[in-house]
Amino acid sequence: MTFTPRIFSGIKPSGDLHLGNYLGAIRQFVPLQDTHETIYCVVDMHAITVWQEPEDLKRRTYEIAAAYIAAGLDPKRSIIFNQSQVMEHAELSWIFNCVARMGWMARMTQFKDKAGENSENVSLGLFAYPSLMAADILLYKSTAVPVGEDQRQHLELTRDIAKKFNHDFRKQIAELGFEEDFFPITETLATGPAMRVKSLKDGSKKMSKSESTSDLATIYLLDDADAVAKKIKRATTDPEPLPSEAAGLESRPEAENLVGIYAALSNQSVDAVLAGFGGKGWGAFKPALADLAVSVLSPIANEMQRLVADRGEMDRILRDGADRARAIAAPVMADVRQIVGFIR
Ligand code: ATP
Ligand code: MG
Repeated sequence: MTFTPRIFSGIKPSGDLHLGNYLGAIRQFVPLQDTHETIYCVVDMHAITVWQEPEDLKRRTYEIAAAYIAAGLDPKRSIIFNQSQVMEHAELSWIFNCVARMGWMARMTQFKDKAGENSENVSLGLFAYPSLMAADILLYKSTAVPVGEDQRQHLELTRDIAKKFNHDFRKQIAELGFEEDFFPITETLATGPAMRVKSLKDGSKKMSKSESTSDLATIYLLDDADAVAKKIKRATTDPEPLPSEAAGLESRPEAENLVGIYAALSNQSVDAVLAGFGGKGWGAFKPALADLAVSVLSPIANEMQRLVADRGEMDRILRDGADRARAIAAPVMADVRQIVGFIR
């Protein structure tokens, strides 16, 4: 059985979008719409696995959808919507809760990281999160998912759920006329060099929406030019000048991060950046990086602001995306109900 090549990815409105979300995810989504059927979701149901002020949740949902569009996604070619508008996500995730095993879920390192010492007191949803993520992906029989390193283990779990479902219900799947598998075994899509943006204050931590300890550690997509420049100029560095090649960045996580950001924003290799800056100090590099970051991010921020100001238009885009998503999801869910033995 061959599956239509289809890509799904999402970002949760759990905090304000940052440079890591842009370089590691949103920017990578754009070229895929030329080659694949693409579905990009704002996963609001994932966000509420930790407490969200309802007003903030709404604002951030609009902002992420606006960021997708401002970064170059075309809502006509890509399906852009917020997850909670397509209730089949919740329905399939319940069925997957009954497919996934406790032992599989208990191995998820992101749960352990996010729950920390507090694991008795976090929501049940946070534990079940990867099963909802599997539902997001498999509801559209997605064949590939572009995600960062931090989501790799969840994608493995998605494959385990698909395999177990295909196996446990193989008789019913065959009776329904499917020759082999019902769900595809979704691949992790490598989208060029995986840029992991680190905190500007601590090169051992990733830049993150919900775990930032200092406002200076994170460049937000809606920061104005002054804030972007200030944060880069105050970024933690070591006292050494820049090396002339990438190998010289080893054991210098803060330097590696800033040079990596420069390379990503200018679409060059790290070696090419260092060919220009090798031997120079931070006093030369940081202002150049600040100018570059402002020149790339300002137009995106401006376009985001323009879009979020037009709620009517944003609502139309999200509703249209949800309708197109549901058109794919509803028949899949109807088959799933029949396969598991639910009467309709
Ligand atoms: P949270 O702290 O709430 O988990 P987050 O910033 O990690 O938020 P997610 O919604 O978990 O954001 O991830 C959205 C996408 O952004 C994923 O594809 C993830 O791989 C990518 N991403 C997140 N942080 C970074 C980063 N620092 N560098 C590169 N990519 C990132
Ligand atoms: Mg995350």
